[in-house]
Amino acid sequence: MRSFSYVDAHSVEEAVSALHRFGAKARLNAGGTDLLGLLKDEYLPTYPEVLVNVKNITGLDSVSEEGSVLRIGALARLSELGRSPLLLERYPALAEAAYAVASPQIRNVATLAGNLCQDVRCAYYRYPSQVGGAIGCARKHNGPCLAVKGDNRYHAIMGGKKCFAVCPSDTAVALAAFDASLTVTGPHGEYSIPVVDFYAPMAHRLKHGELVTGIEIPAVSLQQQRFLKFALRRPIDFAIVSVAVATSVVDGVCSDVRIALGAIAPGPVRAREAEEFLRGKPINAETASAAAELALSGAKTLSRNGYKVAIATTLVKRALLGEVAAG
Ligand SMILES: Cc1cc2nc3c(=O)[nH]c(=O)nc-3n(C[C@H](O)[C@H](O)[C@H](O)COP(=O)(O)OP(=O)(O)OC[C@H]3O[C@@H](n4cnc5c(N)ncnc54)[C@H](O)[C@@H]3O)c2cc1C
Ligand code: SF4
Repeated sequence: MRSFSYVDAHSVEEAVSALHRFGAKARLNAGGTDLLGLLKDEYLPTYPEVLVNVKNITGLDSVSEEGSVLRIGALARLSELGRSPLLLERYPALAEAAYAVASPQIRNVATLAGNLCQDVRCAYYRYPSQVGGAIGCARKHNGPCLAVKGDNRYHAIMGGKKCFAVCPSDTAVALAAFDASLTVTGPHGEYSIPVVDFYAPMAHRLKHGELVTGIEIPAVSLQQQRFLKFALRRPIDFAIVSVAVATSVVDGVCSDVRIALGAIAPGPVRAREAEEFLRGKPINAETASAAAELALSGAKTLSRNGYKVAIATTLVKRALLGEVAAG
């Protein structure tokens, strides 16, 4: 680990000012569970010179309902979200997604915004400097994407372009199902961006000087909600595929449905065609299978990740039918 300067921000304004002042040299530190790995492994071409700590900003960790909107502060910890009575009652798929992240120790310090803004897990990208030197690639702007002709078992089956790393965030998937938006504060004020628009193939869309200050979810009345995650090592591992599904059934037919998939693209993917197909129909084995096929109809697999289509199709179907997780 190299030395760096440390700025302890006590307000959003102080954090924005420091991030703006130091530009590309600065990195924001929340729980540090992802950032410290970056600092230790030195896998990026440039090393941060300044860390801006936001953990001491008060009032950014609350969960509250304001009118028809649920607001979650950027610094809300995943462990709190996993056991929040409000989430468990109204947005259980989000509580389940928060609970599905990593281990209790990590969830106790990891923040929601940190989970959404964490860096990708591509093994080429994260190759530690101390093990023979960092590896260049398209995401680092110094080479081609090595996964295209290499080991792409865990890479994108949708939406990849130049970079095929997937968004590793579990919470992003549930938030996408609920049409959530991120509140971003920067030197030019505040704006809102839907979570499904926040991610692009090469990076998320925050600019220097900006930080996520909150997450807003419009009220939903979807009675059945599920978050399912398929991972190789069950107690602690990133998703191979994850799915968040929420449905409402009136008089035996589906009146509303949301289907979001994770770990298959640079960001969470809403399966809108599948949702449209299910509305007005009963949810049974036949319609759930057809919806699941539709959800994956846009998949474009790489040489070694075609298996993800089968897993994703099965997870969507199981989530719609209320069956338990597959892995
Ligand atoms: C062993 C292990 C297993 C894991 N398994 C999973 C898993 O199964 N599922 C999953 O989803 N994740 C998993 N993770 C990732 C983990 O969830 C993230 O490290 C954590 O959520 C990041 O939150 P943090 O508050 O610690 O962020 P930090 O490490 O502090 O920050 C992470 C990144 O986000 C940026 N950032 C943080 N807060 C903000 C903000 N408010 N505005 C703008 N940028 C911000 C930072 O600058 C940094 O680039 C795992 C991590 C580890 C180490
Ligand atoms: S998938 Fe992205 S991060 Fe991985 S090697 Fe390709 S460009 Fe780099």
